[in-house]
Amino acid sequence: MLDDKDRIFTNLYGMRDRSLAGAKARGHWDGTADIIKKGRDWIVQEMKDSGLRGRGGAGFPTGLKWSFMPKESDGRPSYLVVNADESEPGTCKDREIMRHDPHTLIEGCLIASFAMNAHACYIYIRGEYIREREALQAAIDAAYDDGLLGKNAAGSGWDFDLYLAHGAGAYICGEETALIESLEGKKGMPRMKPPFPAGAGLYGCPTTVNNVESIAVVPTILRRGASWFSSFGRENNAGTKLFAISGHVNKPCVVEEAMSIPFEELIEKHCGGIRGGWDNLKAVIPGGSSVPCLPGKTIREGIMDFDWLREHQSGLGTAAVIVMDNSTDMIKAIWRLSKFYKHESCGQCTPCREGTGWMMRVMDRLVKGEAEIEEIDMLLDVTKQVEGHTICALGDAAAWPIQGLIRHFRDEIEDRVRQKRAIAAE
Ligand code: SF4
Repeated sequence: MLDDKDRIFTNLYGMRDRSLAGAKARGHWDGTADIIKKGRDWIVQEMKDSGLRGRGGAGFPTGLKWSFMPKESDGRPSYLVVNADESEPGTCKDREIMRHDPHTLIEGCLIASFAMNAHACYIYIRGEYIREREALQAAIDAAYDDGLLGKNAAGSGWDFDLYLAHGAGAYICGEETALIESLEGKKGMPRMKPPFPAGAGLYGCPTTVNNVESIAVVPTILRRGASWFSSFGRENNAGTKLFAISGHVNKPCVVEEAMSIPFEELIEKHCGGIRGGWDNLKAVIPGGSSVPCLPGKTIREGIMDFDWLREHQSGLGTAAVIVMDNSTDMIKAIWRLSKFYKHESCGQCTPCREGTGWMMRVMDRLVKGEAEIEEIDMLLDVTKQVEGHTICALGDAAAWPIQGLIRHFRDEIEDRVRQKRAIAAE
């Protein structure tokens, strides 16, 4: 288990002073100018060496992503955009950062923007996060008043402005190019890639979009060193990580832990175990609603990191761990996700627009036991036609939970269809 001294987020539960004075007392904003004065190349190299992989779901190496930004300006400004549109079902980790530890993020915005030659950063926050928005804005205002933002930010010699933009409740605006469209005042619809945002992003300018947690950990990594951060977790899965654990555990929580922590340890140490004991564990969605579920027996032996979960046909995603016990109707649980994705599809591309509705309707019939047995394979086939054939990853996100359900709980689906038929035949 991670020692308290190794936690980056020292006020995750809001038990301590979240004001600027409180943040400084806990070590934030310490030597920020010195970090910046070490230069862009040093910062980007440290981030690469730290092994940090993006915490928003895709797990792309953060330092490498930063290195795609142009080193010299071609006349266009560069931008950092922070994705705070946290809308993935089960995911509520960035919320805790913005509510209780906002200066980790604000300081990270300054340093990361400097590293990417950006004088401005936009934090795009989910519209429903009203208290988080207020807390973050108050922290930004305090940082401006203290000279940590604005001209010669934190005495670094770098002029830097930070803006907070509000979303309006669309899940798709968490997709980076839809977010950029929304930020530009347009309808939030994903763009075709390429061009990638580093070449042409916000207002057609070089842009990097990073998740809140990815940016909030930057100052501590640079203060303590890349090797400190990479000492946690397995190779290729470095660092500490916020896990948001919900569902049928005794104490749901958001907690910072070392990457690659065994699943059983995570649940026992922080959640007081599974409701009704480990024999009552049925399934877990380990990384937010977009990744396939795993049966309880598999995940109980599992390790919570990118590679182990991918090897087992699931994913770490946002590390939102949704625990389901034996009382769960798995078909209905996945149907509910299908309904969500159908609702949130922007409708721009046919496989997603038509496929999400089709999949949801078949799932609805499966919940009721009204489908034919043959429709299970037909549904699986359709998920494979949606997967990888859409403009953005929402198509995959709609397909994968159903694939996981059929892979691990086919018997349950077939039993329901047979029982319904038997009742109808009586
Ligand atoms: Fe829109 Fe879905 Fe296509 Fe993404 S995959 S662009 S959400 S229709």
